[in-house]
Parts: sequence; structure tokens; C-alpha cells
Amino acid sequence: MYKKLFIPGPTHVRERILQAQAAPMIGHRAPEYAELQKEVTGKLQQLLYTEQRVYLYTSSSTGVMEGAVRQAGPKKVLNTVCGAFSKRWHQITVANGIPCDKVEVPMGQAITPELVDEALSKGDYGAITVVMNETSTGLMNPVQEIAALVHEKYPDVLILVDAVSCMAGVKIEFDAWGLDVCLAGVQKCFALPPGLTICAVSDRARERAKAVAAPGYYFSYAQMDKKYEKHQTPATPAISLIQALNVQMDDILAEGLENRWQRHKDMAAYVQDWARRYFALYSDERYLSLTVTNVENTRGISVAGLNEELGRRGAMISNGYGELKEKCFRIAHMGDLTVDDLKWLTGQIEDILGL
Ligand SMILES: *Cc1c(COP(=O)(O)O)cnc(C)c1O
Repeated sequence: MYKKLFIPGPTHVRERILQAQAAPMIGHRAPEYAELQKEVTGKLQQLLYTEQRVYLYTSSSTGVMEGAVRQAGPKKVLNTVCGAFSKRWHQITVANGIPCDKVEVPMGQAITPELVDEALSKGDYGAITVVMNETSTGLMNPVQEIAALVHEKYPDVLILVDAVSCMAGVKIEFDAWGLDVCLAGVQKCFALPPGLTICAVSDRARERAKAVAAPGYYFSYAQMDKKYEKHQTPATPAISLIQALNVQMDDILAEGLENRWQRHKDMAAYVQDWARRYFALYSDERYLSLTVTNVENTRGISVAGLNEELGRRGAMISNGYGELKEKCFRIAHMGDLTVDDLKWLTGQIEDILGL
């Protein structure tokens, strides 16, 4: 049976977007493709309030996280860790043999500018990694404030941001905030099928990458730049997904960016209120995510059992991530979902649990 996805990726994909993937195939060196990439890139630059380069990588987000740290050298990288995905970025950095340190806070807590200041003051760093929306704990780090601190006190430190579960759901002003890398797979707030990652890269990050001895190949900005002005990618891209992304970007811009940000705020407020009423919120109230809520299972319900019954009714939520399994459950409110969808979902949960 079809289940509407209320999980933090992949998210619910509208029929019109599924259909857009079925457009006739075009050659990736043909003018039609260049036109498509040029159009999509312009729309993505609007979404990110940037005039700098936005790359389309045919990869899941994890690959682009790897590319970003590989090209951030030659100095040490500081990985900030506040949950599973930010921890992954540290593991990726270590696995690539890149000199790095991590600064970690307990799950449910945020990375603050103060913490970043203290950590950066202790070493000679070239870059910092921050996960903007930590999907495993339902928490949003204050990236704008962190970036402001870094620019003020550590102007040579590149700011690498994983915005996988919030780009296209919350406002990210890439140029005004002074970010250097901001990446996101399309299977979350973009509400597309997985397989493509959007990545904005600052001019200074592209310049810095040139000094790196082994920047890799597939994700290399220098390789991407060889084709960028021709509106192509070095390797064959996921053309069908890019065709669907082009349609989705039209819909996102037609909705209006401010309206889209507001809809995500409204959905978050609704789910947070509901969670406070019947359960509790897991993460620090000051930094709650606007795209996914991690609900603490204060009633000791069977989360797996709840999800099974929801499945019979045509919906799916997420269990707690990793060690939070059964201790929490997560409701994603991102992409093309609406407050009405979430009212329906919470109504079903209340009915199943007899709340
Ligand atoms: C989903 C997610 C990832 C991993 O994305 P993939 O596309 O599966 O590689 C990374 N970071 C965050 C914050 C995520 O939510």
C-alpha cells in the first residue's frame, strides 16, 4: 500500500514531479541539456540568495560532504559534532586522512558561536564543518551566527555547511552569511527522488581548493569548473532528476520563497505544540528544527507498533535515530507537506494511541 512519507528523507514526492522524470531523454552534451542546467542553476541561485557557483552533483549528499572536506585544506579541519550526521562528517574527514579535530556537544544540544570560538582559538584551522539541521536529534544550529563569529575572528577559516535536511525549507542566504560550501541532497526539503546533490561553493573556497594536493576527481571544483560555463558537468548527470528539479524549482518559486519558509515554520510550530501536549520535545527548545521534530517517547509506546498501524492507514514516520530508537520518534515536516497533512497525521496517531 502507498504510504505518505513523514520521514526525514526521502520525503513525499508529488505526482507532477514523479511524472517530470519521464520526460524524453536528452544528450548531456546537447544544447538542450546546457539550457536545462543553465535554467536550473539560476533558480537554485535564487533559492540560496547567491551569485556564486552552484554545482549539481549526481550523488547522495554523503559524497559531496566528502568532496567538501577533501578540498578544504591544506590546514586542519574542525568538525563540530552534535548528532549522527555531524559525526559522519568527522568520520569522513578522518577516513580521507585529512588532519582534523572534533568538538562535540551532547545529543540534543546545539553548536553555539561561543563553542566554535573556543575551539577555533586552540588551533590553526583552515575550515570548519557544521551540520545546519541535525536530522538525528531534530535540532537546528545557528549557522548565521556561527558564520558571523568566524568571519569576525577567524577570517581565513572556510565555513562548510551540511544543509541536507533544511535547504529549500528554510532561508539560507549563502552570500550574505558568507558561507563557503552549502550542500543538500534533493530527497529532503526539495521533495524529489534521491540521487542528486545541490552544492553552492564560494569563489574563495574554489580558489583555496587549488592549493590542495589531492582534491579528488569526481567532486573536484576544478573539474566541475572546466564545464561550468558551458552549463555541463564533467560526467554524465542524472538528467531525469534534473528535469524534475527544474519543474520543482518552478513550483518553489511560484509558491514564493517567503511563503515556503513560512509554511515550514507553521508546520514546525504545529508539530512542536502537538508533541508538547502529548509527549515532550527531545532537543533544546531554543534550537528546535523547523523541518523535523524529534518527539521524546515519554509514554513508553511501541514506536515500531505505531508505525506499523500508521502504515495500514497510509503513512510512515521515523523511529528515533540510532541509540534513540524507541526512545524517540521523528515526524518530518518538510518539502511539499502542509499543515493539513500534519493535522491528519497527528489525528491518526491520537486515534491509534487512544490519546
Ligand atoms: C540525510 C542526511 C545526510 C545524508 O544524506 P545522503 O543523501 O543519504 O547521503 C547527511 N546529513 C544530513 C543532515 C542528513 O539529514
